[in-house]
Amino acid sequence: MKIIYNNFLPLPGFYAMVFFGVILARKKYRPLPERTLNHEAIHAAQAAECGGWILFYLRYLWLWIQYGYGNNPFEREAYEYAGYGSYLLSRISFAWKKYIK
Ligand SMILES: [Zn+2]
Repeated sequence: MKIIYNNFLPLPGFYAMVFFGVILARKKYRPLPERTLNHEAIHAAQAAECGGWILFYLRYLWLWIQYGYGNNPFEREAYEYAGYGSYLLSRISFAWKKYIK
């Protein structure tokens, strides 16, 4: 994924975010660690199975309202497997749904 380093997005306190398939990262975290790249790649896989970025963001927002950021099922999957570079090769579709209570 393309990475755009900048001083504005994501908001302070976050390393990076994926925005329609492009990673936006704060300059002070350059270069992003592999773990963060894997995290954002997991979000890209989630978005693809949700039917695209717009539908992913709508669903993400809905889950954020219900679970907050840290317990958002999309984030839980992405954080849990960010350390496994080969995770996406064996990932089961809609794996994030297992975090929905
Ligand atoms: Zn995330």
